[in-house]
Amino acid sequence: MLGLMQHRSLALPHVFHRAEQYFGHKSIVTAGAQDESTTTVAEWAQRVRRLATVLDTLDVSADGRVGTFCWNTGRHLELYMAAPCTGRVLHTLNIRLFPDQLGYIVNHAEDEVVFVDRSLLPVLWPLVDKFETVRHFVVIDDGAVAPLPEDPRVHDYEELLAAAAPFEGTFTIDDEDSAAAMCYTSGTTGNPKGVVYSHRSAVLHALISLTADGMALSERDVVLPVVPMFHANAWGLPYGCLLAGTDMVFPGPNMTPQAIVALLEKHRVTVTGGVPTIWMGMLPLLPAHDLSALRVILCGGSAVPRVLSEGYREAIGLPMLHAWGMTETSPIATMSVLRSHHATLTEAERADVRARQGQPVPLVDLRLVDPSTGETQPWDDAATGEIQAAGPWIAAQYYRGEGEGAQFTDDGWLRTGDVATVDGYGSVRLVDRTKDLIKSGGEWIGSVELENEIMAHPKVAEAAVIAVPHPKWVERPLACVVVKPGETLTAEEVIAHLEPRVAKWWLPDAVEFIDEVPKTSVGKFSKKTLREKFGGYQVTAP
Ligand code: AMP
Repeated sequence: MLGLMQHRSLALPHVFHRAEQYFGHKSIVTAGAQDESTTTVAEWAQRVRRLATVLDTLDVSADGRVGTFCWNTGRHLELYMAAPCTGRVLHTLNIRLFPDQLGYIVNHAEDEVVFVDRSLLPVLWPLVDKFETVRHFVVIDDGAVAPLPEDPRVHDYEELLAAAAPFEGTFTIDDEDSAAAMCYTSGTTGNPKGVVYSHRSAVLHALISLTADGMALSERDVVLPVVPMFHANAWGLPYGCLLAGTDMVFPGPNMTPQAIVALLEKHRVTVTGGVPTIWMGMLPLLPAHDLSALRVILCGGSAVPRVLSEGYREAIGLPMLHAWGMTETSPIATMSVLRSHHATLTEAERADVRARQGQPVPLVDLRLVDPSTGETQPWDDAATGEIQAAGPWIAAQYYRGEGEGAQFTDDGWLRTGDVATVDGYGSVRLVDRTKDLIKSGGEWIGSVELENEIMAHPKVAEAAVIAVPHPKWVERPLACVVVKPGETLTAEEVIAHLEPRVAKWWLPDAVEFIDEVPKTSVGKFSKKTLREKFGGYQVTAP
C-alpha cells in the first residue's frame, strides 16, 4: 500500500520563494574594502529575479555550469540562488587554488560563464586562456580599482542586471535529484574531484542547520559565515539562513580576525562559523570586544583543539560547536553537542566531550570499518577504524564517475579516509586521516591526537605532527611546532609536556620549530607540504 501524501519536489526554489515571501524585511550586510552595504532580502530577491534572465541573455545552457570566483558577499548569494533556481549548476571556484588546478576544474566542469569579484580579477585574468568552455566573464564591482580588460567576453554585473527584466512568477525544479551546485575537493592527491549537490541534498542539508541539536538557526538569528562560500557551500549556511529567515552579514574581502571580530560586535551576530585558524587568530582580541550576542561558533574543517574551545569559553563564556564533515558530505555529518548523559560531568570532562567530533546528525549513518580486513568495528571508544558514511546529502559518486571503488564501497557508502573511534552513544573521536597516520613498529600513532596535546601547551600557537622515516620502526612522529610570539620553548619542554599525556612510544622523536604551519587553500594544515619539507629527515635509532 502506498502512502497518500503529496509528492513535492525538495528544491531550492522553495527556499527562495519562502525567503522572498516571508522575510523580505530582513537584512543582508556586506562589508567592503572601505565601507559596508546593506540590502533587504526583498531587494536581494528582485536582483535574483533579474539575474535569472541575465543567465538566459548570456545563453547559458539549461543545465550549464555557472562559475563563481568570489568572496563571501550578498552578491555571491544572488548567484547562489539564481543559478540553481533556473536549472543551472552553481560552481563555486576556490579563489586560493593553484592556477593549474583552477584551469583543470573549470574545464572539467565545463563552466560556461564565470562571475568574478573585481578585486579577484588580477588573479583570474592571467588564466582565462586556459579555460576552454567559458564564453563570458562577468565582473562584480566590489570597490577594487583593478582595470577591466578590453575583451568582448567581459561584462559588468550591474550593467547586465540593470538591463535585464526580472523573471516573473515561480521558479520550478521538477526533478529534485537534478544538480544544484558543485564543488571540487581540495585534492591533496591526484586531480580534484567534482562533488555535485542535488536540490534535494541542498534542501535537506539546510534543514538540518535549523534543528535544535544542530545550530538551531531561527528567524531571530544574525548569521556571519566566515567559512568561504567557495568551500562546500559555506557549510550550507547561506541556504539555512534563507530557509530560517535570519539576518545575514558577509565579511567580503577582509577576512582578518580584526575585521571579523569588529563585524561580530557591530552587528550583534548570534551565529558564526569557520575553521579553527580564524578563531585562533581572534582569541587574543576577545577581551576588547562585546560579543555577548553570540550563541553559536560553529567550528570544523580541522580538529578543534580543546584549548581553543576552552579559550573561548573562558573569555566569552561560549565554547566552539565542533562539527565534522567533508565536501563529499555537504559537509555536515556530525556535531558535538552535550547530551543528557553528560549532565553530571565536570567542566574539564565537558571540554573533552566538545573536543570530540560528535554524533551523526539526523539522516546521516556512519559505520567504522577496519580498512585492512573490511570488518565493522565495535562502538566502544577503543577500536579504531575508517569512518564510512551514508545519507541523503552524502556523495554517491564524483562527477564523471571518477574515484569509483577507491572512495565508494560496493554497498554504496562513502569511504571518508578519516580514522576514528566511536563511543557507545555514537560520538565520533577522530584520530587521524588514513594517509596521515604514523605507523611505528606496526602500531598506529594518531597525529591529530598528538597535535591536540601539543597545542594545549600555553606557549604553543600551532603544531602539526608528521611521519618521518626511521631505520628501526619504519616511521616515527616528528612534531613541527610554532611558538607564540614573544615566547621561547625548547624541544625538551614540549616532550616533558607530552609525557604525562600520551603513551611513551607516541612521544615524538624530534621537535622542529617552524614559523608557521603551511595551510591548504581552504586553511587546513598541509601535511603534504610539511612532508615534502622534511622528506629527507632522518631520526636516529632507537
Ligand atoms: P574538505 O573536504 O576539504 O572539507 O576536507 C574534509 C576533511 O577535513 C575531513 O575528511 C577531515 O579529515 C577534515 N575535517 C573536517 N572536519 C574535521 C573535524 N572537526 N576534526 C578533524 N578533522 C576534520
